Amino acid sequence: MKNRQEQAPGENTTSTPQIGLPPVITVKQLADQMGVSGIEIIKQLMRNGIMANINQSLDYEVASKLVADFGFTAKKLLASAQGRQKASSLSAKLHTRPPVITIMGHVDHGKTSLLDAIRQTNVAAGEAGAITQHIGAYQVEMKGRKITFLDTPGHEAFTAMRARGARATDIAVLVVAADDGVMPQTIEALDHARAAGVNIVIALNKIDKSNANPDRIKQQLSDLGVVIEEWGGDIICVPVSAKKKQGIDDLLENLLLVADILELKAEVDCPAEGIVIEAKLDKNRGPLATLLVQKGILKTGDTLVIGTVGGKIKAMFDDDGKNIRKAEPATPVEILGMNSVPDAGQVFQVVSDEKEAKGLIEKNRNAGLATTTSRGVSLTSVAAQASAGEIKELNIILKTDVHGSIEPIKDSLERLSNDKTRVKVIHTGTGAITESDILLAAASRAVVIGFNSKPETGAIRMAEQEKISVRQYSVIYKLIEDVEKALQGMLEPEYVDVVAGQAEVRAVFEAGKKGKIAGSQIKEGRATRDSLVRIIRGGKVIAESRVAGLRRFKDDVKEIATGLECGVKLENFNDFEVGDILQFVRQEKVD
Ligand code: GDP
Ligand code: MG
Repeated sequence: MKNRQEQAPGENTTSTPQIGLPPVITVKQLADQMGVSGIEIIKQLMRNGIMANINQSLDYEVASKLVADFGFTAKKLLASAQGRQKASSLSAKLHTRPPVITIMGHVDHGKTSLLDAIRQTNVAAGEAGAITQHIGAYQVEMKGRKITFLDTPGHEAFTAMRARGARATDIAVLVVAADDGVMPQTIEALDHARAAGVNIVIALNKIDKSNANPDRIKQQLSDLGVVIEEWGGDIICVPVSAKKKQGIDDLLENLLLVADILELKAEVDCPAEGIVIEAKLDKNRGPLATLLVQKGILKTGDTLVIGTVGGKIKAMFDDDGKNIRKAEPATPVEILGMNSVPDAGQVFQVVSDEKEAKGLIEKNRNAGLATTTSRGVSLTSVAAQASAGEIKELNIILKTDVHGSIEPIKDSLERLSNDKTRVKVIHTGTGAITESDILLAAASRAVVIGFNSKPETGAIRMAEQEKISVRQYSVIYKLIEDVEKALQGMLEPEYVDVVAGQAEVRAVFEAGKKGKIAGSQIKEGRATRDSLVRIIRGGKVIAESRVAGLRRFKDDVKEIATGLECGVKLENFNDFEVGDILQFVRQEKVD
């Protein structure tokens, strides 16, 4: 018997559904009793002029009015001991903290303008006009409560941090320009936010423009599965104009609302910890790092370890450049005193002394934390895990040449899910595979698949760095078959031919009884002794062989670089002609 409460005498009954109300009830308890979401209640309270959070206690008067607003009749109950449960059963050590917000969206939809507008309209009194934000994050105040904004607009920065294992953001504000609508980067940002599991709030910007068409955008969002409250969903959408500074307070109030629902808390009674938002080397002051405190209280004089970098906080500044001595969770600060420049997205930890710092740095070095932790997956590793019965979910990023290919491939892939493993296509798009795709793959442990889509140069480099598997296909059934095989643990590693270098035959020399040597010049790449060689004449492959000898002047060599001349002898091939092209091919494992 959980709610052993007694009915007050003399309470009349009516035909509308009744809700029993004790003298005091929290928003959360009321939400549970009425079967509505906490967010609905908090919004209704706001309409009644009351700012409340989910754990707030309401007295009978307020609660009964609210209940009526939802079409119920209040029934006054006398509280029993059990009725007076503590509002929150969470450990007393946890303190409510401000939400941390990132702004995302398509280019030119107003991310920077919105960040500026928020800061300008909500700076602490007295400093208006002289805004000297100089670090990559700031805090504003709304009704006495703080909100932290990360000034690293764009989902790439967000996902890059996540790829390093950092989770900084609680809520992503997706900016959509009301005159332009959902664009490719809107979708990309949405997918990045979803993959990270952060909450999304829509800021419908540029509503001041005469050609703004909010309904069209709401429809587009709904088509993407983002159903806003007005349309019966649970995504908050706030119309704003960053330019005219309209709707900014409304946006902030809604962010606080979501923060309340999320019940964001942090431990404070522990050594401080958090992440690096950005860092740079200042010519005069040395390494400067912007940190976001996530738990504990960071203080000047604290000894810090960031990966393999140590240091002691010599000075600490807030987002206005003011000297401060302490920083609570969700506060962005700039610090002086690290021995070298850490990377964005790295975790910082406060330790008790120099000795502990040394030990931790050593440990981090051994764990390879100095460099990016690569957590890439590949179809062949998936296959290995699948045969060991370990794989539960396979995330895929799918890029295609044309829009029409996306849905059929995505459907076929997701249909490969079975009771043991789930295939989830976390992002799709048309065009080349970009660095942003690779970052998302790194952050979400996903495999990138291109269907008639190739990676950009930057993306190739990044994929190598982050150990992300990029597979390219031009036949749908082959693509599906490979993923299916991987899930069944049956995909064998595959080898592809990679042209490592090309040489042109300049002269042909006799060598011994029957043999001939092609005096050649390396035109591009390099020639290696262990290569397979394709002999190309008039644009056609006329033969294939292996290298039998590779010489530079009189020396046998393993490898020859671009521009140099060499003598090439092949196994079972002597019919060289001047002008032949020798392609040096290496076999590489695809994963
Ligand atoms: P970002 O690329 O998303 O950071 O977009 P910006 O903040 O740089 O804004 C792009 C352009 O849109 C700029 O010319 C802004 O002045 C303009 N802009 C931004 N917000 C608004 C708005 O609310 N109304 C109007 N009319 N223009 C805006
Ligand atoms: Mg911008």
